[in-house]
Amino acid sequence: MVKRGTRMMLSSLAVIAAGWITGCSEQQEPARQEAATEKATDKAAEVVVYSSRKEHLVKPLFDRFKDETGIKVTYITDGEGPLMARLEAEAERTPADMFITVDAGNLWQAANMGLLQPVQSEVLEANIPDQYQDPENRWFGLSVRARTIVYSTERVQPEQLSTYENLSTEEWDGRLCLRTSKKVYNQSLVATLIERHGEQRTEDIVKGWVDNLATDVFPNDTSLMEAIAAGQCDVGIVNTYYFGRLQKENPDIPLALFWPNQQSSGVHVNISGAGITRHAKHPQAARQLLEWLAQGEAQAMFGGLNMEYPVNPDVAVDELVQSWGTFKADDLNVEVAGRRQVEAIKLMDRAGYR
Ligand code: FE
Repeated sequence: MVKRGTRMMLSSLAVIAAGWITGCSEQQEPARQEAATEKATDKAAEVVVYSSRKEHLVKPLFDRFKDETGIKVTYITDGEGPLMARLEAEAERTPADMFITVDAGNLWQAANMGLLQPVQSEVLEANIPDQYQDPENRWFGLSVRARTIVYSTERVQPEQLSTYENLSTEEWDGRLCLRTSKKVYNQSLVATLIERHGEQRTEDIVKGWVDNLATDVFPNDTSLMEAIAAGQCDVGIVNTYYFGRLQKENPDIPLALFWPNQQSSGVHVNISGAGITRHAKHPQAARQLLEWLAQGEAQAMFGGLNMEYPVNPDVAVDELVQSWGTFKADDLNVEVAGRRQVEAIKLMDRAGYR
């Protein structure tokens, strides 16, 4: 089996691999499979989406979907917490057919709360690598985000960097900046460290990070990078699209990305993605939207609008994103972010990571 992590480097191999990866635990659901072959030709059809992904990242896609299929997408955007609470409160009365959010930790949470229904789809299986979808098919990744090391090009040589774990060593004493542990992105990163190293070693690593902090944790990745550029610290851990936004505003910013763990576990990756709600009123049209988002131009747009990586290895990566180079990604299934989230939160608390 081709390691999923090599996909950023060897897209042609990954294309082949994508064809192989169809083996999800599938329960037979004849009724739903039959429905899959139906074409939603009803011009009155619509899909209602609850999205924690911001409007400017989803609206262009919904408009295009309407143009191509005649199916109207109605949506609201809000934080993932309020949207999940709303879905839970509305229960079978919900108008929502689809839930879109970022981070496998959140998607896992929604599935765990019983808010999503499994979808058996050959299209989704063929276009979305196994590692980026729920083993029970209740949610599917639509873009991949890398959480990697960012460093000051003025005070750090890339040769000094190696792994996330290495940022806990004395070499980085007083030089590290981190975003708050309250953010799900860091909870997911720590969840994968626990999966790899176990609790004790991970706690030592996280304690080491905390000991190395140059200053208080930051509320977001952008303020963290601005602190590095301003000389407050030398290295940090961020999602690459935030670096992309900063780079677009200020091409001369003295920061660069580093791809850690290339000799070991690979770069920590996560997804944004979607699932069809348990009480969807338009499950067929919602399924059509989900499958449409997983392929072709829509796939390129979904990742590209936010400078992320397409989840579909057949789809080209945005140009600026390409300029950051290729890397080996962690090949764990991203569901670990949800499965170990509570452990991760408790561990970060014990380690003094605020
Ligand atoms: Fe984000």
